[in-house]
Formats: sequence, structure tokens, C-alpha cells
Amino acid sequence: MRLVFLGPPGAGKGTQAAILSQRFNIPQLSTGDMLRAAVAAQTETGKKAQSIMESGGLVPDEVVTKIISDRIDEPDCRDGFILDGFPRTVGQAKALSNFLESKALHLDGVLELVVDKNALVHRMENRVNAAIAAGTAIRADDNVEAFVKRLSEYEAKTAPLSRFYSESGQLKQIDGMGDVTTVTKDIVCALTGL
Ligand code: AMP
Repeated sequence: MRLVFLGPPGAGKGTQAAILSQRFNIPQLSTGDMLRAAVAAQTETGKKAQSIMESGGLVPDEVVTKIISDRIDEPDCRDGFILDGFPRTVGQAKALSNFLESKALHLDGVLELVVDKNALVHRMENRVNAAIAAGTAIRADDNVEAFVKRLSEYEAKTAPLSRFYSESGQLKQIDGMGDVTTVTKDIVCALTGL
């Protein structure tokens, strides 16, 4: 099963991708996590990405496309994967489809979590409070300024992907406003009919 998750920051992509990863026993590939690891390790990519990420901007297409295609080539992705946070631009979506086509592979579904935009800042604040309570690190881009920029980047560059994937008949829109279990049930139903 090869899946893509779309949805604005705070929609629940990471949470649902992690649950489905367990359920279908396929890896969750989060470009955000990979980039944060590169920043923490201060690799060349990490150094270039750091300030862009902190401000809430998008890392250049060729950088993320290379990261994800190298990752998909790893053996644990043979039976499938869940892309969480990639693609984020039409350029990335086209690069992904060319890359998969070159390997005679295809996507099985693109899941878009549809959420009320007004709820998103509140969800981000909850994420910060949960991190504080748990004593875990707060993301450098989880502040109102960077979050607003991430939302506007989403609207300008990522939202057009709904149309891109609906034209190819791959898009499944899921109501992302319910509780985590309900959203998971709706996703599984959209994918398997169960
Ligand atoms: P995320 O954890 O998915 O919210 O990603 C955190 C940040 O990493 C984003 O705000 C971007 O700066 C960067 N990033 C993650 N995935 C991508 C992508 N596919 N294209 C460009 N930038 C990305």
C-alpha cells in the first residue's frame, strides 16, 4: 500500500500516518522528521534547511525530492509506505509520480484530512502545551508567527494538490475534525471499504 497524506499543518497527518503505519506494517516517511534529524545532525542539508524551517517556509523541491526518493529506495519500503508531509508542491507531486513510474510503481491513495482552519492554531497550541507537560522538545516552528506562515505556504503551494490528485482520480477526502479513532475508521473505510 503506497499512500500520501495531505492536509494543513495541525490536521493530524502525523498522528494518522503513525497509526496506519502500525496497522499496515509499512513505514511512515515524514519529510519534516527527516529534515529535523538533518538539522539536529547539522548535515549540509540540515544547515541549509534550518532557517527556512524555523520561519515556516518550504525547503526547495529538489532537496526534499532527493531525500524522499533515496528513502523509498530502501528495502523496508518494498511493500509500501505512507508519505507524511510530502509532496507539498505540484513540482514535488510530479517528481514523485515520475520517480514511481520509473520503478513501475503507483500510489494506492491520496488522503486529504479536511479540517476547519480556525481549529488549527488551537491544535498547535495544544501540541506545545503537551510537549511542555511531557518535558519533550517544542518544535522550533511551533510558534504563532511561523505557524501562520506555514498555513499561508499550505494555501498557496500545497492546497492545489487536491485538484492535482482529484483530476487523477486518486484523492480521498476525509473529515479530520472528529476524534483520532473516528478519523482512523473513516480512513480505513475509504481505503478498504471496511
Ligand atoms: P512538518 O513536520 O511536515 O510540519 O514539516 C516541518 C517543516 O519542514 C515545514 O514547515 C517545511 O519547512 C519543511 N518541510 C517538510 N516537508 C517538506 C516538503 N515536502 N517540502 C518542503 N519543505 C518541507
